[in-house]
Amino acid sequence: MINFLDLKKINQRYSLELKEACARVIDSGWYIGGQELSSFEQEFANYCGTKFCVGVANGLDALTLTLRAWKEMGKLSEGDEVIVPANTYIASILAISENRLIPVLVEPDPKTYNISAESVEKIITPRTKVILAVHLYGQLADMPVLCNIAKKHDLLILEDSAQSHGASIDGRKSGNWGHASGFSFYPGKNLGALGDAGAVTTNDEELASVIRALGNYGSYKKYENQYRGVNSRLDEIQAAMLRVKLNYIDSEIFERRKLANLYIQEVNNNLIHLPNITLQEQHFWHLFVIQTKNRDSLKEHLQTNGVQTLIHYPIPAHKQNAYKEFVAHSYPITEAIHERVLSVPLSIETSEADAETIIKCLNNFKAAD
Ligand SMILES: *Cc1c(COP(=O)(O)O)cnc(C)c1O
Repeated sequence: MINFLDLKKINQRYSLELKEACARVIDSGWYIGGQELSSFEQEFANYCGTKFCVGVANGLDALTLTLRAWKEMGKLSEGDEVIVPANTYIASILAISENRLIPVLVEPDPKTYNISAESVEKIITPRTKVILAVHLYGQLADMPVLCNIAKKHDLLILEDSAQSHGASIDGRKSGNWGHASGFSFYPGKNLGALGDAGAVTTNDEELASVIRALGNYGSYKKYENQYRGVNSRLDEIQAAMLRVKLNYIDSEIFERRKLANLYIQEVNNNLIHLPNITLQEQHFWHLFVIQTKNRDSLKEHLQTNGVQTLIHYPIPAHKQNAYKEFVAHSYPITEAIHERVLSVPLSIETSEADAETIIKCLNNFKAAD
């Protein structure tokens, strides 16, 4: 069986260094808010090219706490609208509704799966305050255009960079385009911890310090609470794991690109649409997502031939019980995407031989009629 993702193998690559880092933390006697976290924050900010990075407990908190901080700073208030792509992973939308802001779903560009700048401009109202730009599957959204729109309408941009660590446009990385950016280091993400972790990057010093306080019970100073905060922290063990893996992120991008290019060059089947990319540097290949009208039978065909695939994502947010208010809305592009997408294995542990097997299966797939 070719697994979709073999986390054990991926982390075994770095096993010696990870164990050393773990021992370093155990022996330090300091487990929350210490040297590993501040070093990782500095190193990750440097990597993204931003001035600040604040570690938090996970990617959802990174987004939620950023919006919350803007509320505390007087930049947002309850009922303000946040534009977000309808086909995103639900976490992006949960961060909005958790803050009692209104998610305004827009259709993505069907070619890139990312928020379409055209549809954004059409739905801006006087209550619109934020564009939540999700870089889905590892490809950056059209940030130059979105930043211009935001400037013109005086909007904030929050990037959801949970899938796009390291991707860039004109040398400017994911996390350094918006007013702030949320990252997830969930184990399966391209920069993955060995547990939950997340971070916000920004060039806004005040925002960074409000987020840090919010994640620490709303406190800047021990036992003095400025806000009704939460507990959302990136612990020393996870920071130490991430510091090891950050050193390899660029070589991993190189490996992922090689595989993605192999698929793009060799998959040749009219029934299958390959991902459409404008520029390689824009794409980190978190997921290699193909589309076909015969998705379920293709999935079964691959399974029968020993290839595990996943669907990102089977049910869009507006069809979930959690968001019944959207039930009457129709987002045909988003719905078509959810019916047709299939993610095939692409990880640093997917060998070239595995890729050739997968390519062969994709090429010999015929629609059952
Ligand atoms: C994974 C993910 C998140 C949430 O990250 P967690 O660390 O799991 O909370 C948010 N947005 C997107 C697009 C994601 O893929």
